[in-house]
Amino acid sequence: MKNYTKREESRFQENKQIYVIGALLSLMLVSLIAGLLVFEFTGRQETLARPENNRYEANDSRVVRGEIETSDRVVIADTRVTEDGDVREYPFGVLFSPVTGYSSMGRTGLESSMNRYLMTSSVSLGQQVKNDLLDQRNPGDHLITTIDSDLQHHCWEVLAGRTGSVTVMEPSSGRILAMVTSPAFDANTVKENWETLTDPGNDTGILLNRCTQGLYPPGSTFKLVTAMEFMRENPETYPYYRYTCSGHYTVDGQEILCGDGNGHGEVDLRKAIALSCNAAFIDIGLKLDIPLWQSLTRELGFGGKLIQEIPSSLSSFSLAEDSKGFETAQTAFGQGKTMETPLQNLLITAMIANGGVRVQPYLADQIVSDHNETVFRFTQDAGKRVITKEQADYLTDAMIAVVNEGTSPQAASPACQVAGKSGTAQYASSFENMHAWFTAFAPAKEPVIAVTVMLEKGGYGSADAAPLAGDIITYYLTR
Ligand SMILES: [Zn+2]
Repeated sequence: MKNYTKREESRFQENKQIYVIGALLSLMLVSLIAGLLVFEFTGRQETLARPENNRYEANDSRVVRGEIETSDRVVIADTRVTEDGDVREYPFGVLFSPVTGYSSMGRTGLESSMNRYLMTSSVSLGQQVKNDLLDQRNPGDHLITTIDSDLQHHCWEVLAGRTGSVTVMEPSSGRILAMVTSPAFDANTVKENWETLTDPGNDTGILLNRCTQGLYPPGSTFKLVTAMEFMRENPETYPYYRYTCSGHYTVDGQEILCGDGNGHGEVDLRKAIALSCNAAFIDIGLKLDIPLWQSLTRELGFGGKLIQEIPSSLSSFSLAEDSKGFETAQTAFGQGKTMETPLQNLLITAMIANGGVRVQPYLADQIVSDHNETVFRFTQDAGKRVITKEQADYLTDAMIAVVNEGTSPQAASPACQVAGKSGTAQYASSFENMHAWFTAFAPAKEPVIAVTVMLEKGGYGSADAAPLAGDIITYYLTR
């Protein structure tokens, strides 16, 4: 056995320490590289998706925020790179702001919900390495929405500055084709105008998307829901329902007027819808089972979040089992405490158009890379049946009668048969303050479009809102 001198012993110990440290360092380096690779290939999307993760901001130096586009590939939000930093631009100002939201002073709308996609680059790894070496940033992925740019523009023109909203959907798929709200903010100047926009004294609701966040009494459009409940409770006998309207109805000692008070005479369910007979609907409403009625409204979407990608309010049906006759009567024809968003009203309309199946509305269609390769396609839940095909067909015929021989000839279109329902909702117990609704689909027998027009303090459903719905349908089917 070799004998070591003290000096050799000490050197040996030093070398041993160096070997150990070297081995440890190598091990750390290997695990670091492995960790990075694992993160790159498996954890990247997931980690970036965590809302509490601030990496997006750090990423700003590496990724140029992607575009938001309409379904016909018109760019509605993009990023201009300047020496002073990136500027997010919205080429159409107010037009698409309710959809895109803004990306300054925080983020809203699609800018917020789709942030992880817009700040991720799916150009090839080779391209990314090349960009890194050249000290160039990678282009973020782009969001393709379901919005039809021309239709959006047309709806904005038709609304013509009135306070309100127009929401348009493809009834079979849930694709939102247009979403217009007025007044609207310009997403380009949110930062400059922040104080005015958020001033407590500013009661214009300009930052609200009225389509999804506005809550209003539904007026007579709600008769469709009351009719559905009556059909579900009387599946064999509803076609034989008859009521003779004398022009008024007295419940709990209070008289409620119907129409001009002259009476609609004898009506069946179809005619009660076509003429919007309040008295017949009070008669029907007082016969309904309130818990079942509540359950129907939940199936239609009341109390639930209707759309995932942008902020929305919950519609409410507040009739309780012990509600008084007067409140039930008011609720039956849309004047109780029920509150609906225009999107909720549109969903009900589209469900009828779709033969009784309710679909999921959506705005985000797919994510594409800067090289236009599909990275991700959003999928929707299968639709849910709410009423039978026969019941949906019956309501369709009644909604055709609304336009052809009932309250709303103003919604007629030279392009095709329109099916619709008007609503004039009094609010704040005032007979002068009225919201105007019209909700419709077309062509009635093979629907491709469903539209809900809502005009705040806009007058009468038939006179004021119905012509706008007819115009939008004509445009969509003839352009
Ligand atoms: Zn009547």
